[in-house]
Amino acid sequence: MTLPPNVHDAEPIPQSARDAIDALMQSGDLFRYTAPGDAPVALLEAEFAEQMGSRYALAVSSCSAALFLSLKALDLPRGARVLIPGFTFAAVPSSVLHADCMPVLCEVGENYRIDIEDFEARLADVQAVIISHMRGHTSDMDAIMALCDARDIPVIEDAAHSLGTTWNGRKIGTIGKVGCFSFQSYKMINAGEGGILVTDDADLVARAIIMSGAYEHNWQKHKGSSPELQAAFARWQNRLPLYNLRMSNLSAVVVRAQIPELARRVRDGLANHDHVAARLNASPHIDVPAPLPQEVRAPDSIQFNLVGMDGFEILSFAAAAETRGVKVQVFGQSADNARAFWNWQFIPDLPELPRTRAMLMRACDVRLPVRLSKTELNVISDIILGAVDDVMGRVAAYGT
Ligand SMILES: *Cc1c(COP(=O)(O)O)cnc(C)c1O
Repeated sequence: MTLPPNVHDAEPIPQSARDAIDALMQSGDLFRYTAPGDAPVALLEAEFAEQMGSRYALAVSSCSAALFLSLKALDLPRGARVLIPGFTFAAVPSSVLHADCMPVLCEVGENYRIDIEDFEARLADVQAVIISHMRGHTSDMDAIMALCDARDIPVIEDAAHSLGTTWNGRKIGTIGKVGCFSFQSYKMINAGEGGILVTDDADLVARAIIMSGAYEHNWQKHKGSSPELQAAFARWQNRLPLYNLRMSNLSAVVVRAQIPELARRVRDGLANHDHVAARLNASPHIDVPAPLPQEVRAPDSIQFNLVGMDGFEILSFAAAAETRGVKVQVFGQSADNARAFWNWQFIPDLPELPRTRAMLMRACDVRLPVRLSKTELNVISDIILGAVDDVMGRVAAYGT
């Protein structure tokens, strides 16, 4: 019998990062603003902006920090209402509260994407929107941008888990006013921790750069300057609080070394996901929602809904999968899950979202690191299908 693969280990960091780290250790130059120019963080920003086709990028300590700074950079009034999906990571409503704004939650459908009708209904008194492409599932950005543009509401994309995803051929994270990405270990590029925001808006990025901790005139050490950006820095100098959410040069060299790996990781991640999805969809008790037609995804995990199973059967299934060697997380069934909105009790007057709750109670999450082989993917699929059989009995539809 083939052993279940380890789905927690990351792939090794490329050798080029180790050489750059050695040079940094030698120079001791870890702070992004020590050198007069071309620090690894500044180079990363220039490369990332170019790769995304954005005018500006700002690297920071996490995607959560990028979301927080995006909200602060929008200069919203204290207490502004910010619409977010009811299915996201707890860091998203947290960033809204940190920015002295109030999160407003909307329903998410069975395909893990924002329920556009509910989104529209809640848009009336909202001053900004964060679209969280949760687990890399893209919500209908055509509908969202049309609704928000018509009302002049700025859209922040939480693309933490969507690096490499496209929508109508456009890179996710470049459709809204700001896009935020994560370099935390479970994302496509792994620096342990880290984040970056991209935007075409000079005023917004100047504010974000200063608040991220570009004290005095350290903003001069950022690349990609333009007269417009210089004017924005001059306008905001000494007028904004500093939050010191900078990225260190050490993280930047680890990220930069992985940028050449991204295309391969995206390609393999999608092929792996679709291979497992096809096998799981053969079961009448499993539904892997299809992507939207506009979307080409970049997954490193798979989500699926259990069909025709009650609460006890769902828990038994998760236990059977674990016994067989694959950890399946049912979002709404594990204690204190940070992606279940009812655990965001730090939000005042936390609402009920019946559709989102129903989805979370039977939506499963399995990690599929892009480095897995076909054999390993088949072992994972067989374990999941076997665990369904353990609980529901063998079903002729996919039996042999
Ligand atoms: C990982 C993740 C975050 C948080 O990113 P950090 O860099 O850890 O702060 C936010 N939103 C989504 C959708 C994520 O997947």
